Amino acid sequence: MTTNPANHPNTGLSGAGLRIGHGYDLHRLDELAPNGQGRPFVLGGVQIPADKGPVGHSDADALLHAVTDSLLGAIGEPDIGQLFPDTDPRHESLDSEEFVVEAMKRVRGRGFGVVNLDATVVCERPKIGPHREAIIANISELLGVEFGAVNVKAKTHEGVDAIGEGLAIEVHCVVLMARINGIQ
Ligand code: MG
Repeated sequence: MTTNPANHPNTGLSGAGLRIGHGYDLHRLDELAPNGQGRPFVLGGVQIPADKGPVGHSDADALLHAVTDSLLGAIGEPDIGQLFPDTDPRHESLDSEEFVVEAMKRVRGRGFGVVNLDATVVCERPKIGPHREAIIANISELLGVEFGAVNVKAKTHEGVDAIGEGLAIEVHCVVLMARINGIQ
């Protein structure tokens, strides 16, 4: 039995022509400014009415941050925090769609395109369900894929721990990519 992946026809990354990426993000939720540090609640680029909002340097869109990290992860690039440091004043209040656009530029630059993306948002409030289709439409446009290639699921944390107590929002995301010119 060999342990060298190069000796197996379908295990080398370039040979398979497929990449998987994982992204995760969490933002603290706070009362909306000026009462607290919360920014307007934006998720997947869609503004949602809420009495609390995420705290962060950019627009604090946890879903687009997790999407960006999954894209960068799939192509072996540094994560969003290294590419767009929160110490850089140019990123203050930045629309997080710009992170996704930059990550997609890098994905395409390496000859890959997105096959599908699946994300799970965990937060107690506000309810994400009514905005799910708008969020999916926006992300699929950013990734250059069909609506059906993106899935966003939402769940609560059953009232326990920081997320359950409404103190934070958390997002998990996975993405699959293939070489644009097909499986090699
Ligand atoms: Mg973030």
